[in-house]
Amino acid sequence: MRRKLRPWEKDAVDEIANAIVIIDTLVFPERPIPEILAVKALHLLPERGKVGYVSKESAQACGNLEHYAICAYRSHRFLKHGVKARIILASQAGKDYQGLPRQTLEEFLLGLAAHEVRHRVQCLRRLTLFSAQFPAEGCFVKYYIRFVEKYLEQVSPAPGHYETELDARVVGLWVKEEFHLWREAGQPGGVATMRKRIKEIILSGT
Ligand SMILES: [Zn+2]
Repeated sequence: MRRKLRPWEKDAVDEIANAIVIIDTLVFPERPIPEILAVKALHLLPERGKVGYVSKESAQACGNLEHYAICAYRSHRFLKHGVKARIILASQAGKDYQGLPRQTLEEFLLGLAAHEVRHRVQCLRRLTLFSAQFPAEGCFVKYYIRFVEKYLEQVSPAPGHYETELDARVVGLWVKEEFHLWREAGQPGGVATMRKRIKEIILSGT
């Protein structure tokens, strides 16, 4: 990145990067991500978002290592906007969106990190993606799938990314809700229990 980051952009990028490193190391302790890059524009990312995972193969084409990319431009606003949003809770299905609690910065970053690390799992592991074909018995997950489907109708992910994007968004929502409920319940089992659970969800279907 040629332009020097402004202090508030650097702080925001660092916060996002830290969250991703923690979750990436949890899921891939034997193979942590070699690099996290700050980029200056959205079009440099593989999907229409502020953060993206770039596989080894795609990165090599530009002379980079496998990495997560974070868009620095307005990254501080991205975080501010994130904490204004409500947390989607399948456990409160049917409740009006306005009645849901706002997500904390920690929850927002956790959901974001889980989403991106899931993209890495999609690339490095054989897995069954969460999709519209997911059986109805898993109604908790089915709720997320329906929610994400509606969302993707509006934002249209880049061509070829619909299935992986749906799957990663489901995982991000699920991790965030389990963390939220665990917090609300007084953190039963402590941090180690939650970390184990987060890893299990991100590796679902592998
Ligand atoms: Zn994604």
